[in-house]
Amino acid sequence: MKLIIASNNAHKLTEMKAILAPFFDEIVSMREAGIEHETVEDGQTFMENAVKKARELAEISGCCAIADDSGLCVDALDGAPGIYSARFSGVHGDDAANNRLLLDRLRDEKNRAAHYTCAIALVWPDGRTVTAEDYLYGEIAYDERGTGGFGYDPLFILPEIGLRTAEISSEEKNRISHRGKALRQLVKKLEG
Ligand code: IMP
Repeated sequence: MKLIIASNNAHKLTEMKAILAPFFDEIVSMREAGIEHETVEDGQTFMENAVKKARELAEISGCCAIADDSGLCVDALDGAPGIYSARFSGVHGDDAANNRLLLDRLRDEKNRAAHYTCAIALVWPDGRTVTAEDYLYGEIAYDERGTGGFGYDPLFILPEIGLRTAEISSEEKNRISHRGKALRQLVKKLEG
C-alpha cells in the first residue's frame, strides 16, 4: 500500500518516512504524488483538523494518507494560540511576529506554563482511521534564545534541563517532542 504525507515540510517528511517505512510499500509527499490540495482547516481541535486533512487526501488519491496538526497552548491565555498557532499574529507562518506577540501578551504574566500538542491521523482509502495525540510540557521564557527548531522554539523552555527547544539537537527534539511521541504512539497502534 502507498502512503501519502499531507505535508511538503522537509523535516516532517524525513521523520515520518523513516518511522513509517516498515508499514508501507512506498511513502511520498503530496508534491511527490503530484497532488495539489489545500484543506480548509476549520476544525475546533487539532485532531479534527488532522483527520480532515488525511481523510480528504485519502479520498482524492485513493491511497493511504497521513496528516498532523500541531501548535502551542499557553495556560495563562486559556490555551491560545492553540489551533491558530501558525497565524497567531495574523500572517500565516510569520514566526518572528508570532513570538513577539506571545511575549507581549505574557509581559506581566507570572504563570508561564505551556505545552505543545500534536495530533496525527492515518486514514485508509476505505475510511479506516488510526489517530494519536501527544504533548510536550514546558514554560514560556521572557526572551528568545537558540537557533534550532522553528516556530515558538526560541521561547519554549524545557524545565528539567533549563534549555529552549531551539537549543537542543533535532535528534533530541524528535525524541522528546509532541510530534515524535505522537508518531511513535501511532506506530504502536499499527503494530498492535
Ligand atoms: P503545523 O502543525 O505545521 O501546522 O504547525 C502549526 C504551528 O504550531 C507552527 O507554525 C508553529 O507556530 C507551532 N508549532 C508546532 N509545533 C512546533 C514546534 O515543535 N516548535 C515550535 N512551534 C511549533
